[in-house]
Amino acid sequence: MKFVCKFVFLFFAVLTLCSWAQGQSAIVMGRLNTGFPRNLTKMFETECKHSYTAKLDDGLTLEVKSDTNSRDFAKKVLEKLKPVISLTGQMLKREAPLKIVIYVAKFDRLPESYQVTAPTGADFVYPIVNDRSEEIDLSCVRVTKHCETIYTNIPHELTHRINDGLFLEGATWISEGFAEYVSSEVGHTFSPPQSIKRQMETLPEISLNYNPIRANLLSWTYSPATFNAESVLYYGASHQLLREILTKAKKRGKPDAFKTLLAAIRRQNRSLSSNDIVTLIRNEVGIDVGKLGRLDERRKLEIFEQAKDLYLRERRSNKGPKYSALATFAYLDLALTDDFLSFLLEEVFNKNNNSLFQHLSVKALTSRLELNDFNRLASSTTLGSSHLKKFRTFGAFKTYLKACCEN
Ligand SMILES: [Zn+2]
Repeated sequence: MKFVCKFVFLFFAVLTLCSWAQGQSAIVMGRLNTGFPRNLTKMFETECKHSYTAKLDDGLTLEVKSDTNSRDFAKKVLEKLKPVISLTGQMLKREAPLKIVIYVAKFDRLPESYQVTAPTGADFVYPIVNDRSEEIDLSCVRVTKHCETIYTNIPHELTHRINDGLFLEGATWISEGFAEYVSSEVGHTFSPPQSIKRQMETLPEISLNYNPIRANLLSWTYSPATFNAESVLYYGASHQLLREILTKAKKRGKPDAFKTLLAAIRRQNRSLSSNDIVTLIRNEVGIDVGKLGRLDERRKLEIFEQAKDLYLRERRSNKGPKYSALATFAYLDLALTDDFLSFLLEEVFNKNNNSLFQHLSVKALTSRLELNDFNRLASSTTLGSSHLKKFRTFGAFKTYLKACCEN
């Protein structure tokens, strides 16, 4: 749990969206950071007196409710959301009409954790808070919090809402797989930067290839209490697994595999377990889910080289999220040369790194560093002589890493 706060900061969106989406109620939404969420439904409802509504295809209604200060912003949100909601609805074809309410309000201070319940008659709710820390630029040519909300978080959550009741609690991988897949397709259609950022956070291909995730994915269940640095990889792995199922199904002559699979799931008329889904996919499209997702050596190398380039670019410009490059080094087991090993050492001792970056650097380093490398780096690099020599022995250094930030 040591990493949770920093982690929430980096992956705020992912944590937000999956906190209450499953089972409990898909029409409660909010932000989960630290502490028990406060119910702010009344506050949003009281402040948001202005209403802008759009009727979309297929019985979808979108209402944006705004406070007095955010009316112009709310109108823009409505325009941006119309195609997003339409496409999400089209992809997930459903029978009943659906009313979506989005609150847009300006609050300077909100609790770290809060929740909002959908008003009477609404099937889905999402609060967009326009606080001072967030830009309200909705051009979305680059990544911003509001653009991420519109183009990736809302489609993700709405997918859970529309698919509500299809899966039992233990079938998280398929539930999140659908939500991430739809969010990725919608994001990619309307604002690729938001969708790419999410890919770089959840690292789909790397996550599904990573053995500890592969071993647990089909029985993974989401829990805020156990959310840690690796939890976000389960979202990526779920997304990738569904994507590979669909790609393989297409190759086997099912061009519209997404709709075929969803229709087959709906035809069961009951909530399905993870095993039910695995069986259904085997029967419907002849695919063994457990065998998918291993990266071949060529692709592994390609991803690794891209991560190295990205790392060097971010290092030169002294900015950039660094996360995806460090995570690639941590979760793919290819060899690194001495210069990269010493960069990782730098990251471990870099006081500006948050605990997540430090954790990833340690993980990447400990899986590679041998006694010989330790001796070589200690004697041949400036960093080695300033840091490694303090430890005297390789064993003492490994003990330090373990204690400081391995988990
Ligand atoms: Zn989710």
